[in-house]
Amino acid sequence: MSKLANILRESIAADGPLPVETFMAVALGHPEFGYYMTRDPFGASGDFVTAPEVSQMFGELIGLWAAEAWAALGSPERVSLVELGPGRGPLMADALRAARVAPAFFAALDVHLVETSPVLIEAQRRTLARAGVSVTWHSALEDVPEGPAIVIANEFFDAMPVRHYVKTPRGWCLRLVGLTETGALGFGVSSEPEPHLVAQAPDGSVLEISPTSHQIMNVLAQRIAKDGCAALVIDYGHVETGLGETLQALKNHRSVDPLAEPGEADLTAHVDFAALTRAAVAAGAEVQGPAAQGEFLMRLGIEQRATTLKRKATLEQAKSIDQAFERLVTAETFVGPGGAKSFGMGTLFKVLAVVPRGTPPLPGFVREVPNV
Ligand code: SAH
Repeated sequence: MSKLANILRESIAADGPLPVETFMAVALGHPEFGYYMTRDPFGASGDFVTAPEVSQMFGELIGLWAAEAWAALGSPERVSLVELGPGRGPLMADALRAARVAPAFFAALDVHLVETSPVLIEAQRRTLARAGVSVTWHSALEDVPEGPAIVIANEFFDAMPVRHYVKTPRGWCLRLVGLTETGALGFGVSSEPEPHLVAQAPDGSVLEISPTSHQIMNVLAQRIAKDGCAALVIDYGHVETGLGETLQALKNHRSVDPLAEPGEADLTAHVDFAALTRAAVAAGAEVQGPAAQGEFLMRLGIEQRATTLKRKATLEQAKSIDQAFERLVTAETFVGPGGAKSFGMGTLFKVLAVVPRGTPPLPGFVREVPNV
């Protein structure tokens, strides 16, 4: 049993069950034993692989996107290039290298990274040591200096805690993590239903919401509306709010029981892009998309980039560029390294831009044709 499981069991025995939301926040962010606080979970030997870890093309195209977004915001003299939850920092490193083709943008930018994990801050420091720009770390978006900014968040919102309500004959009850008869962690529900939730649904239905995500989007969108910033949110998730839970735990690239080893497995939930859009619009900003990641990257020219990279590649490298391209863009299963089959990220992952009202479509997004 993990150290954190023992801490949680003691806390539940003393003070009662915890909402799923608190469990997830503690499992990921406990200062001593939280999943992200203690390790570097990325790559083939880690628990999962993210798009910038798959290929340099991803970060490069986002760097070029950021340069275009900066121009669309009126090319402000100084701009913060902000990343939320940069992991080991590959996206920013690739974005900065690509952004050098836009010297005016490169000269205008300061990098601000929002990260809570000391282990990953060190990894980011190493990755960006020779990037040639000033880098400042912050523990929350609120601490990033005011003013024009381009904000990138790849697989950040899926790590934000979710709250679950379960439909029972009494009404919608908060889902809790308590102790089973044998003393293990187990799911239960609150005895009193939530009085404000009245939606009709069959008993056993689960409603999943991420108040932390909405709160962060609220802060982000207020800045976007006030300071002329733009944000790009990339994550897996759904475009319409619906019933059902998506909380999942991953360890060594395999799905595991979310309660089995808190602090030792990654916990994520799908991002509700409709809810993020509502939060952004309510705070005075506007959105473009969500677009499917595959379409977005194709519109940004990933195919041409792959062709260019392959020109200077060995046969082996060319093969891995082709595989990375497939993985980032396709919606289907594809054959990855070692012949293993994997799912493509092309449609499961979505891209949402949050921009000031009236901003013309940014690269990767098309203007919605009104239905007349
Ligand atoms: N964007 C990276 C990593 C995604 S994993 C990539 O695509 O490879 C999630 C990242 O968010 C990690 O860096 C994690 O430490 C960070 N993170 C998790 N919760 C956070 C929080 N509340 N505030 C800031 N960063 C957080």
